[in-house]
Amino acid sequence: MLGPPGSGKGTQAAQLSKELGLPHISTGDLFREHLSKNTPLGQRVKAFMESGQLVPDEIVLEMLFERISKPDCASGCLLDGFPRTIPQAEALEKALSQGDKILALNLEVSDETILKRLSGRLSCKKCGQVYNRFLAPSQKEGVCDRCQGTLYQRDDDRPEVVRERLNVYHKQTKPLLDYYRRKGVLRNIKGEETPENVLQQLWREIEADERLA
Ligand code: AMP
Repeated sequence: MLGPPGSGKGTQAAQLSKELGLPHISTGDLFREHLSKNTPLGQRVKAFMESGQLVPDEIVLEMLFERISKPDCASGCLLDGFPRTIPQAEALEKALSQGDKILALNLEVSDETILKRLSGRLSCKKCGQVYNRFLAPSQKEGVCDRCQGTLYQRDDDRPEVVRERLNVYHKQTKPLLDYYRRKGVLRNIKGEETPENVLQQLWREIEADERLA
């Protein structure tokens, strides 16, 4: 799944993962897990994440390949937040086995909407459910509707970091759209519609792809 930060990749990938029965692998979530456990890897990536920069490719690739080599990925997986650079996409392609196929689903969302979404984004510490202070608040401020966990703002959702993450997206990740377009596997999705509508568009593209039949 491709798209700028805050385009809904995580929300949609979680839903698709349930419906398709494929694991949802978010490199951002994996890094945040290392950060919260303060592992050596977490310590290596902390400064990059907090400043909105990308983690160096070799670190991301090692962690990603270790994860997708697990048996639950044997029939495929939903990658969310990966690849984010051309070298990452090339490394992924090299690592594929014969018969493996990539579908690049790109959620299109304007910078203006991204700024609104991310500056209000709150996540539950316990279950990961995502809310938005302005667009989709929880019933009780600061408390998760689903599990009563505490809601928090990600460090990298602070406005100055959001702007940097968007710059990084335009410079380093957006070129991937051309990369996958040239390979004929890019599908654009209107990401500013309702979550239900975005999910429908995603399903349409997955079902229309004869290579995945
Ligand atoms: P995300 O949750 O996908 O927005 O990722 C949060 C942060 O994790 C990013 O701003 C990067 O610092 C780091 N990160 C996640 N995935 C990647 C990736 N594929 N390549 C480089 N850095 C990444």
